Amino acid sequence: MAEPSVLILVYHRFDPVKSGLTTVTTSAFEQQLDWLAAHHCKIVPLQNLVQWHDIPAHAVAITVDDGHESVFTQLYPILQQRHIHVTLFIYPSAISNASYALTWAQLDEMVKSGLVDVQSHTYWHPDFRKERATRSPADYSAFVNMQLTRSKSLLEQKLGISVTMLAWPYGIYDPGLEAAAKRAGYQWGFAFAGGQAHPESDALAIPRIPVSGGLSLSGFAALVAEPAQ
Ligand SMILES: [Zn+2]
Repeated sequence: MAEPSVLILVYHRFDPVKSGLTTVTTSAFEQQLDWLAAHHCKIVPLQNLVQWHDIPAHAVAITVDDGHESVFTQLYPILQQRHIHVTLFIYPSAISNASYALTWAQLDEMVKSGLVDVQSHTYWHPDFRKERATRSPADYSAFVNMQLTRSKSLLEQKLGISVTMLAWPYGIYDPGLEAAAKRAGYQWGFAFAGGQAHPESDALAIPRIPVSGGLSLSGFAALVAEPAQ
């Protein structure tokens, strides 16, 4: 039997009309879901996939980074209608704070629906490369630890959930960051790109496939059938 390989898609924002680099229109997103269903792809919660048992053929997980308000206003109704599960990677400093971001009440409602899992995207989405270049080694290490632990503990405390997954901001990670994530209690980390995920993938840098806005349906089909490496 072939080893399982799975597609973990990454989205950011949804809009009824406009598309952009990180904004997918709701109609394009629905067409993508229809395409996946028509091609026997099964949407599975990310938590189930990373256990690597009983993975259905053509398993796909949907992840959404950054906690934009359109996750609640545009995506959530589609999830409810289609009973689809997604994982949100959230940087909690923005929640109920930045004008573009979700609120804690919206996150809580989505988590309680059972359709949405919330995991960490660090505390404020730093560029770890820039931070390392401008801080002393000790200061950088304390900064990394704060970004990893404060996000996990705040999400757990505010939402009553268990946070074991981390998506690396800008897809930036290295062995030192992975070790820090492990120390902070994360079991799985996710890259921003890299193609299909396999059981042999580095558990703290599992590849994902970004879906940009403005992608045609045939472009999406090609991305999913033969993800860029
Ligand atoms: Zn991000």
